[in-house]
Amino acid sequence: MMQSKNEMKLSFDARSVNEGFARVAVAAFITELNPTLDEVADVKTAVSEAVTNAIIHGYDDPCEKVELLCRINRNQVEIAVTDTGKGIPDVAKAMEPFYTTKPELERSGMGFAFIEAFMDEVRVTSEVDKGTCVWMRKRIGAQEG
Ligand code: ATP
Ligand code: MG
Repeated sequence: MMQSKNEMKLSFDARSVNEGFARVAVAAFITELNPTLDEVADVKTAVSEAVTNAIIHGYDDPCEKVELLCRINRNQVEIAVTDTGKGIPDVAKAMEPFYTTKPELERSGMGFAFIEAFMDEVRVTSEVDKGTCVWMRKRIGAQEG
């Protein structure tokens, strides 16, 4: 019988190496939902994009922290990736495909577009100099709930 609720929280340094850690940690946590390989890949990509954004755009100092909250509720997974960094002045604009403030780093501006494509719902809240929270939700499997 599937457990109805389960929650975990991670806090890690804003270092690129931790992007892989966060992605794998979430993938491991959601195994109780018996996700398909495609569903796991979708969630991993979304987590990876949100965490990479926090590390690359949110902070200059790699000792700052990124927080990741992951909650399973029936057959849904909710993930929140939060930083207390620079923030986004215009969230709607930042979420447009191909919009990037770091073209010199060969960013394509597709991170938010991927998150929106792979998750069922995405909400971004941000305040300049306070930080950013990317909340996302996805239904896993075809079970009732
Ligand atoms: P890509 O993800 O394709 O490598 P990108 O990161 O620039 O490129 P998005 O992930 O779509 O593209 O993000 C768009 C823009 O939103 C970024 O260029 C940045 O200006 C801003 N942004 C995104 N996340 C954050 C964050 N956590 N803190 C501050 N700014 C952010
Ligand atoms: Mg990005």
